[in-house]
Amino acid sequence: MSAPPSARGGDTPVPVVGPSICFNPSGGQECPPHAYRGRLAPSPTGHLHFGHARTFWSAQLRAREAGGTLILRNEDLDRQRCKPEFVTAMLEDLRWFGFDWQEGPDIGGPHAPYTQSERMRLYRAAFEQLRAAGFLYPCTCSRQDVLRALQAPHQGEDEPIYPGTCRKVTSEEWQVAGDARPAPAENLSPVTRHLSPSWRFHVPDGRAITFNDGHLGPQSFTAGKDFGDFIVWRNDDLPAYQLACVVDDAAMGVTEVVRGADLLASTARQLLLFEALGFAAPAFFHCPLMTDEHGVRLAKRHDALSLRTLWERGATPAELRAAW
Ligand SMILES: [Zn+2]
Repeated sequence: MSAPPSARGGDTPVPVVGPSICFNPSGGQECPPHAYRGRLAPSPTGHLHFGHARTFWSAQLRAREAGGTLILRNEDLDRQRCKPEFVTAMLEDLRWFGFDWQEGPDIGGPHAPYTQSERMRLYRAAFEQLRAAGFLYPCTCSRQDVLRALQAPHQGEDEPIYPGTCRKVTSEEWQVAGDARPAPAENLSPVTRHLSPSWRFHVPDGRAITFNDGHLGPQSFTAGKDFGDFIVWRNDDLPAYQLACVVDDAAMGVTEVVRGADLLASTARQLLLFEALGFAAPAFFHCPLMTDEHGVRLAKRHDALSLRTLWERGATPAELRAAW
């Protein structure tokens, strides 16, 4: 009898990207031409709203027009806010609206699991790879520390630009230790050693990260100016959004990321992660965000515009799409 093929765990290193996975959008040997792979990546932190549906609809249309595959990924890493009942509602609401995915948490697929909380081994492997390669350093600054250290915090930024407090400490210690860059955790001061650090990506200051957005055209963000050293592993021992997203998009062979324009600024950081991890990056297509009658972006708190509420009031998906 042969051994079962599934030897999970053990000493085998976790492959972040398996051999059969295509992550080259331009098509490598294993990649059939036009193998478009898109994804919907909702978080079950509340009910999906009309604005999500519009962005997701764009993603579905682009996948269909390309004759490609659409993946549904459940981004449930926020343990405080994600709830199982929202996952159930999310699947129902998406189906009702007319979404049709070919891989997902409810139907499986070649890159299962499609629920982020079940993919921690992949994120840890990527984190260890980045740490071993010297891209990361531990940081014990609180959000308050970061805001205090900034002369003029950028209003509306998703993450304040990190002033580099822990970067300096660590790089001096690295210099003392020579080029070898020993595991930074051993180099922390006695105080910080007892705190659980988060881990930041050391961005290449001054480097322009450019990409051609499929909807918004050419984009350029300067590392250290438009965004700073960002957290890839949180002090509550979870991967940050940026890392989980990049690992999953690479491992699932996503060729184009269609999402809301609120994530445009994340793209430069994610491109640095794709590069550092040795993955080819997907293409990006950022959709304009829907706003309410006051110009305020639609959010999950706009309950009246949740798909569920609209559904209960007798709206049909066709009517709702006609309103876009
Ligand atoms: Zn710090």
